[in-house]
Amino acid sequence: MTVPDVVDVHVHFVRSQQQEKLVFPKAGWPDEWYGANPEGLDRWLRSEELAHIFAINFIDTHSIIDNRLARMTADERPAAEKELAAQMTERTASFNDWITDYCKTESRVTPFINIDIGAFYGDQQAMMDNLEKNIANGAKGVKIHPGLSRFFPNDERMWPVYERLQSAGLPVLSDSGSAGGRTPGSTVYGEPVNFIPVFEKFPRLKFIMAHLTTAYWDQRIDIAKRFPEIRYDISGGFYQPDGPMRARDANRCVPLADAARFLKTIGTDRCMFGTDAPGADVRAYIRVILGLDLTDGEKEQILGKNAREFVGLPKA
Ligand SMILES: [Zn+2]
Repeated sequence: MTVPDVVDVHVHFVRSQQQEKLVFPKAGWPDEWYGANPEGLDRWLRSEELAHIFAINFIDTHSIIDNRLARMTADERPAAEKELAAQMTERTASFNDWITDYCKTESRVTPFINIDIGAFYGDQQAMMDNLEKNIANGAKGVKIHPGLSRFFPNDERMWPVYERLQSAGLPVLSDSGSAGGRTPGSTVYGEPVNFIPVFEKFPRLKFIMAHLTTAYWDQRIDIAKRFPEIRYDISGGFYQPDGPMRARDANRCVPLADAARFLKTIGTDRCMFGTDAPGADVRAYIRVILGLDLTDGEKEQILGKNAREFVGLPKA
């Protein structure tokens, strides 16, 4: 099978090649190889064999703040913490404004803005204002990251976001699984079971749970059975100790030998190709999917068709 239409629903698209070099550095790479940004996009889509991407906005501002606070004295921290939270809220808001503006003239990129209570440091008003502004400006979905933004998916402060997206018919793409912080009791914020109250409370909310194949994949099977409308992206990869790809949670991921059976259990009409690029290898992962014991039709669903249908993109 030759490479069909491929849509990557999980790309961390950034403002420039310089920024990509800072956030996703790769030893020895010339500038022009950095392509998850406006300057490099043409070349990158061609070289990665992608027809379309979703830009999944997210800046890990909590880690930025932790790093800065670590260099301060205990006396300096309280005031600095407040000031930094305000700065980081503004940074996420302006990144959102940028991506929706950019996508007005770039039809190969579907903009998902980052709207979550952690990224807005508890400022619900600022969060909702930025959501409304960017829905009006063409946002096609919202990214949330309970792990790195340090909140539980069912946090009541998120309910107005889910309510608004449900009524607008706009999807959420959420990180799920092992990434990021733990509470003092060691609970993983993004553990898939933590999303269940949200699915119960907002049954018409369009939802893509990211990282299907990674740690806690067993919980995602249960969720798939119980909530037939939930979709998944397969970023994170399958575990294959000697393979070309590094899986996000190593041997906690679904093994490659069971990949086809696992995807069919979830439903190949519900799984979407995603990579977490530029921090992951797109071409290698396309080849992993092409090599699975699935029909051509099933591979086409996963690699592009499901994503196009889910957000209403034109057929390839
Ligand atoms: Zn990601």
